[in-house]
Amino acid sequence: MAKKRAPLIGTCELCGGQFSKAAMSRHLSKCVSQESVPSSSGRRRKLRDVFHLRVEGRYLTEFWLHVEIAAESEFAALDHFLRAIWLECCGHCSAFRFPEPAAARAAKKGRSLEALFADFDMDAMIRKEQEIMDSPLGSRVKVGDVFDYEYDFGSTTELRLKVLSRRDGIMKRNEVRLLARNLPPEILCQCGQPAEWVCGNCSWELEGWLCKKCGKRHPCGDEMFLPVVNSPRVGVCAYCGPEA
Ligand SMILES: [Zn+2]
Ligand SMILES: [Zn+2]
Ligand SMILES: [Zn+2]
Ligand SMILES: [Zn+2]
Repeated sequence: MAKKRAPLIGTCELCGGQFSKAAMSRHLSKCVSQESVPSSSGRRRKLRDVFHLRVEGRYLTEFWLHVEIAAESEFAALDHFLRAIWLECCGHCSAFRFPEPAAARAAKKGRSLEALFADFDMDAMIRKEQEIMDSPLGSRVKVGDVFDYEYDFGSTTELRLKVLSRRDGIMKRNEVRLLARNLPPEILCQCGQPAEWVCGNCSWELEGWLCKKCGKRHPCGDEMFLPVVNSPRVGVCAYCGPEA
């Protein structure tokens, strides 16, 4: 896509301030700690382990989010949130992926592709992916860990997540709180105007990103067009942005 090399800016959802991608983590740790803690009006609310995560497109890193989620919440809650804000087009499958332990990597080393293929068990893999979805974040990741997420195993959108920090906080189980989000990167049509549409046929080429005017002349026809949206799934499958 034709992109301007603009600095990657995002908005803090707590104070409304705008910060660069590089400065946002530090800003948020300050901004979150300055939040007024809701006074426990008689009722004592449970403090939980809360993770601060950064999520970004694995290859389209100009799309990024910061979120908070309790460590005892399930991966499925995070999956649900990511689908709603960034991904959902036709109910595709999704999965979280963790780096393979060194022992498993070593065991595979030197074995032929045929042997690895013969051992591959699709049912076991699906069972494992479901197990991960149903498990609490804290049972699989800790501060500093990096892991991946895939939505749609055909036209895959890959995300990379990092656990930046943890704190004691008041959050509901399976609640996901948006802390910050990138501003829409400026994507340009070849003529220099901001692109409004992306042609599903040509989204991987420069000609695929179209302003209103150039869209009218594009040979593929507008039934192939998808709106340019603020998501790493822009222009993929039938993605039109979050449901209103
Ligand atoms: Zn802030
Ligand atoms: Zn789809
Ligand atoms: Zn086209
Ligand atoms: Zn144009």
